[in-house]
Amino acid sequence: MSLEALEAVHNPHRLEALRCLCLLDTPTDPSFDRLTQLAASVLHAPVALVSLVDVNRQFFKSQIGLPEPWATIRETPLSHSFCQHVVATGTPLIIEDARKHPLVRENLAIRDLNVIAYAGIPLITSDGDVLGSFCAIHDVPHHWTQREIEIITQLTASVMTEIELLSEIRERKEAQAAVQVALEREKELSRLKSRFVAVTSHELRTPLTVIRSSAALLHQYSDKMSEERREEHFNRIDGQINHLIGLLNDILTIGKVESTGLDFSPTPIDMEALCRELVEEIKQTTDKHQVLLSVHGIPRPYEGDAKLIQCAISNLLSNAIKYSPQGGSVRLHLQFEPKMLLINVSDEGIGMEAKDQVRIFEAFYRAENGSRIQGTGLGLAIVKGIVERHNGTITCTSVLNEGTTFNLYLPA
Ligand code: ADP
Repeated sequence: MSLEALEAVHNPHRLEALRCLCLLDTPTDPSFDRLTQLAASVLHAPVALVSLVDVNRQFFKSQIGLPEPWATIRETPLSHSFCQHVVATGTPLIIEDARKHPLVRENLAIRDLNVIAYAGIPLITSDGDVLGSFCAIHDVPHHWTQREIEIITQLTASVMTEIELLSEIRERKEAQAAVQVALEREKELSRLKSRFVAVTSHELRTPLTVIRSSAALLHQYSDKMSEERREEHFNRIDGQINHLIGLLNDILTIGKVESTGLDFSPTPIDMEALCRELVEEIKQTTDKHQVLLSVHGIPRPYEGDAKLIQCAISNLLSNAIKYSPQGGSVRLHLQFEPKMLLINVSDEGIGMEAKDQVRIFEAFYRAENGSRIQGTGLGLAIVKGIVERHNGTITCTSVLNEGTTFNLYLPA
């Protein structure tokens, strides 16, 4: 094949057009098979093909009459392709006797596929890309009449109409699917907005009410109150303000997770020491729970953002305490694997239903059975953001009224 012809077959624009049609390696299709059958029967030709010429092969979107194994594998290498010459020139190729034709007499299709007489018309898109050829084949020399060539040309036009119709249907389906995805996203955003409004209005209103009532009492009766009582009200106001600051910080953090990403400055972390500290801290908040730390494997520094990792683990630990109001054991387990660090946090608390387990990492989502316990539904979304910032994954397994385990997989 000449260099120009080779370039035409390997033309990237042509190959891209071929790929975009999504016809390569697809099942047979009755609408194409009808056309090859029609060609074979009208022309009394044993073989007819819709051949799509790819980089190193021709793929038969439809074939009739090919010998095995070609009929089943529905493709041949280009060493067995006459159709590539149709693609190379973009014009019809009419051959009476291939064995005598200078272009194809060495072609292996003569020996292996009995191609002797060949009439192939290019399959050209409206953009001018030649996809392959629609052809009829005889296994003996044959003089193609003008009428026969006219019939193949007409059928080629029908093949192209079919290809373009299929492409249009596919594009429409893709557009519909994209609209559906956008619609789902829109619905999800709207659900998120409602959850945001519900949670924040409740979470803002409660502390503000407490602050207002304590402030009013102090304002009116502070001179009649004992020092102790006054201190109590100031502490209450302080506590509620800290709660509000925490809520605002969580909202800002989740905003970052969902937009620009969390600030990330990794350093080597002594995970065992960090976890020991967190366990000691959380123990101060409860006298109903046993908080236990266990370590497996050979501890080594983990390269991560210490502040973020600390935030993730302490979120999980405080949830474990919060969602096991009857007490029980809370376990933090560290496992050093050669290529990964595994962290489990488990409790013996209220657990959750399977339908909640798949949604609790969404911002503002709260499970029904925990709705009486104070919370915003932001913690786990933040933990997930942190874990993913470390290229890790988080999973949850839980049994209602028995307990919950969170597993963090962090690649080393
Ligand atoms: P919050 O605790 O503030 O509601 P989270 O994002 O931390 O927010 O948790 C989301 C939801 O997941 C909680 O509302 C709760 O329903 C459920 N959840 C989280 N941790 C646990 C746990 N250890 N046991 C049972 N349910 C849990």
